[in-house]
Amino acid sequence: MPKSSEFKRRIRENICPRCGRPSEDGGLCGACRAAQLRWYSCPARVVSICCPGCGARKEAGLWVETEVPREELTNTLVKQAIVIIPEIHDPDITISIHDKSSNRSVADCRMSGTLFGEPVEGSCQIEIVWQKEQCDRCSRVSGSYYEGVVQVRATGRKPLPREIRNAERIAREVEEALISSGERLSFISEIEETRDGLDITIGSQRIGQEIATAIVRVMGGRYTTHPKLIGERAGKRLYRITYSVRLPKYTKGDIVMVHGRYGEVQSADGRDIRISDIRDGQQRSVPEQKVGALVGNVRDAAEYLVTFREGDTIGVLDPGTGESTECRIPPGMRAEPGDRVRILRTADELLLLG
Ligand SMILES: [Zn+2]
Ligand SMILES: [Zn+2]
Repeated sequence: MPKSSEFKRRIRENICPRCGRPSEDGGLCGACRAAQLRWYSCPARVVSICCPGCGARKEAGLWVETEVPREELTNTLVKQAIVIIPEIHDPDITISIHDKSSNRSVADCRMSGTLFGEPVEGSCQIEIVWQKEQCDRCSRVSGSYYEGVVQVRATGRKPLPREIRNAERIAREVEEALISSGERLSFISEIEETRDGLDITIGSQRIGQEIATAIVRVMGGRYTTHPKLIGERAGKRLYRITYSVRLPKYTKGDIVMVHGRYGEVQSADGRDIRISDIRDGQQRSVPEQKVGALVGNVRDAAEYLVTFREGDTIGVLDPGTGESTECRIPPGMRAEPGDRVRILRTADELLLLG
């Protein structure tokens, strides 16, 4: 009976030699192959190193910033430590963590997936050791380490309070951008207002350079660098650099007198200033030395109400005192009763700005 023996042989070939259940090719079935394979491995413990000062984390010997809450961090850490072979389909890991002490936690981990068509499950326990270590940045900050100072000064005057605030804001913005881009050692260790301006002590030459460049870009002026040799380490010369920022003598919005005419400063680079004429609005550049007098700044101007007009004379009400005054309007300027005009009070007259 050839048909029956053929049937028997096929049955024999297609059963698992270990468990007797059907197998595809007569070898071990999926369940027996899966049972034989170590498809995951877990370390007994993982160590997490954090800086108590700033919360940075040490990963593979390098300090990195982290905004991630501790719970999420622990989950990631444990998941990264578990190795699952690539043959597993749809692997899944669930972790539940409980603290044993202030510096020890335990993670109960359950792993599941599909291997050779069979669902598989496993579990393990991983101890998490929380270690505290001062990071490179905090240890530099606490050790008063610095690589230079950005000195903000102004030419022929003391920087104005708003310039000081501006420079400080720019410096902080540069620091934030550098730190969040991974430049951990580009910190500001101190900002101090001095008699002549602002001193910004910095942790790296990179941040010094960037702060000086940014201040000059936004506020005008120039900067020069002055390195000073402070010693040698491992055959390398160590320098501290002073970045000397000089804000221009005149700043944007200053009202200056040039050749008997008032002008508003638009920009200044420390050599020339660009002004717009108060009367006719014409713009021109003049060397700084040609400025006859600094009268004030448009920020100090106030809005006055026009009460009457007679020819080129108008009456205005001082918004502060309510006092009524007269002043002349430059030809071409519009000012009718009921209008509000900006006026800068100089030492001896009211200067109509428009
Ligand atoms: Zn089997
Ligand atoms: Zn730190």
